[in-house]
Amino acid sequence: MNIIDQIITRYQENFGQMPDHIARAPGRVNLLGEHVDYNDGFVLPAAIDRATYVAFSPTDAPHSTLVAADFNQQTFFSAESISSKTQADASPLPEWGLYPAGVMWSLMQENLSVPSINAVFASDVPRGSGLSSSASVEMAFMIAWQTLGGWALPPMQLALLSQKAENKYVGVNCGIMDQFASACGAANKLLLLDCRSLEWKAVPLPENVSIVIADTTVRRKLTSGEYNKHRAACEEAVRLLQQNLPNIKSLRDVSVEEFNRLADQLPAEIEKRARHVVEEIGRSNQAEALLEAGDIQSFGRLMNECHASLRDLYEVSCPELNVMAGIAQSIEGCYGARLTGAGFGGCTVNLVAKERVDGFSKILAKSYESKTGLHPEIYITSVSNGAELLK
Ligand code: ADP
Ligand code: MG
Repeated sequence: MNIIDQIITRYQENFGQMPDHIARAPGRVNLLGEHVDYNDGFVLPAAIDRATYVAFSPTDAPHSTLVAADFNQQTFFSAESISSKTQADASPLPEWGLYPAGVMWSLMQENLSVPSINAVFASDVPRGSGLSSSASVEMAFMIAWQTLGGWALPPMQLALLSQKAENKYVGVNCGIMDQFASACGAANKLLLLDCRSLEWKAVPLPENVSIVIADTTVRRKLTSGEYNKHRAACEEAVRLLQQNLPNIKSLRDVSVEEFNRLADQLPAEIEKRARHVVEEIGRSNQAEALLEAGDIQSFGRLMNECHASLRDLYEVSCPELNVMAGIAQSIEGCYGARLTGAGFGGCTVNLVAKERVDGFSKILAKSYESKTGLHPEIYITSVSNGAELLK
């Protein structure tokens, strides 16, 4: 049964009627610009054809009832109970409930109407693997409440309110990229986002290439401590570089040339972290021109350089990601391969000539398995629309 039929069936079992609406919000993959969103840099994500789907209707009940079909669990909360992060009976919210409850909280902060709903949701975005299942859950509920609340906001605004939910309610200090890509995605388009101004444009994905996502199946979460340490290193680099460059506000403002001139003034570890960011912003600055010129070879090289930089300078890779990217880079027809997402496990993203995709996927899976003993998941991905109401 496909995922939409599954949630409709579950909805009928749970609530005794058909749902009025179905919404869908995709996960995302980032092609270039990794760990630069919180340094005011540029990122190049795309919405993927894996998504969270929610079946929902309004209810007269004073609380919302949500079923997470993938966990076979249910929660219920009201406008009153969410301010204390509890269910309507004052018991704690399940961890997954924080995401939709956070969305409701974030909308209430804006004085937007968030009526009670009955909902069943399920997703084929793998969890915790760098494809942003959390943003897809948030955006699916954003669409649900927008549909029933009688208001409408631009997708970027929905993304910002989702990010606020994740930062302030769930307590994960993520940048804007995940929610942005899930909200603003467009079929066959890469999204080039300036994380400082939030200006963005859609750049066509060249027709003769496919995006292949390869899941190492290793989940070593980048702990929030680790993530915060990396963020702090970037901030410390800015503070030290300001002695010579008083006008910089973030590493975005430092050119590669300036950085090379001043790098020896930084402690070794800070220098490595900052060098990744400065050079990665330099790489993502070239992306648009290369894609528009159809120069996939050069664009792919930037992806390979990005992987090496995440491995050696930013140090957020792991052996399995290095094996996966290394194999891919050696296969004919692969333009570029790198870890995607925060790192320490999860997926690689590969840009592959369309006519080679099947062979590529088979060789990659086989070699990875023989080198690691792990059975990888390979997704040949198409680039999809952003969050939307299907019915
Ligand atoms: P990711 O990189 O996939 O976004 P996160 O750790 O940010 O990983 O978010 C994963 C969390 O999002 C899960 O632990 C769960 O709380 C929530 N989530 C994701 N997908 C689902 C789902 N299908 N059903 C319920 N909750 C989900
Ligand atoms: Mg997430």
